[in-house]
Amino acid sequence: MISNNPTRCAACRFLRRRCPQDCVLAPYFPSSNPERFACVHKIFGAGNITKMLEQLPVHLREAAADSMFYEASLRVEDPVYGCVRIISQLQHHILEAQSEILKTNGQVASYIAQQQLHQQQQNVVHGASYQQDMQISEYSGVGWDVQTLANDSYFHP
Ligand SMILES: [Zn+2]
Repeated sequence: MISNNPTRCAACRFLRRRCPQDCVLAPYFPSSNPERFACVHKIFGAGNITKMLEQLPVHLREAAADSMFYEASLRVEDPVYGCVRIISQLQHHILEAQSEILKTNGQVASYIAQQQLHQQQQNVVHGASYQQDMQISEYSGVGWDVQTLANDSYFHP
C-alpha cells in the first residue's frame, strides 16, 4: 500500500514529527523550502504559527504565512526594530510626499492668485490710462487756453 503522505512538510520535518494528511502548515511550508519554516519558527514558534493559521479562514492563510515569514525574516535581520524599521521608513516617505503635495498645492494656489491679480491690474491700468488720457487732453486744452489768455497782450498792455 502506498503511503498517503510520503513527504513531510518543512514544518513537520523540522519538528521531527509525522506530517498528517490535513497538516495545517503543509500548504505554506513546503519541504522544498526548509529555511522559510526555520525562520518563522525561530520568531513565532511552531505552536503559535499553527494557532494563528487555524484561527483564519483558509483563503487568508497563505497571506498570513507570507506575512509571518516577512516579519520573521526582518526580525532575524534586525533583532531590535524588525519590520518596524521598514514601516517607519515608509511612513516617513508618505509624510514627505504629503508635505510635497501640500507645498505644490500652495504654489499652484499662489500662481493662480498672482495671475488673477495681474489680470485685475491690467484691467485697471487699461481703464485708468484711457481715463487719464481723456483728463490730460481736457486739462491741456484748458491749460493752453489759460496760458494763451495769460500771455495775451490784450490783457497785459
Ligand atoms: Zn506537516
